Amino acid sequence: MADHCCFCDTRRPMGGTNTLVLGSDWLEFCEPCGNKETLTNGETGEVKTLAEVFDLVREERKEELISP
Ligand SMILES: [Zn+2]
Repeated sequence: MADHCCFCDTRRPMGGTNTLVLGSDWLEFCEPCGNKETLTNGETGEVKTLAEVFDLVREERKEELISP
């Protein structure tokens, strides 16, 4: 992890960024950008912040690990 936010283009302290993986896209973001930048779901038109999408993806991965 580079600890570099690709939205505000600043370097963050170690672990200061999260990386959201959507298919082949890797979006690295700091906390302020995670709450500011939004993504639109192409299927539902739902708009969520990066931080919200990051949490959803993390929850989904967790469920995948639990279920056989
Ligand atoms: Zn940022």
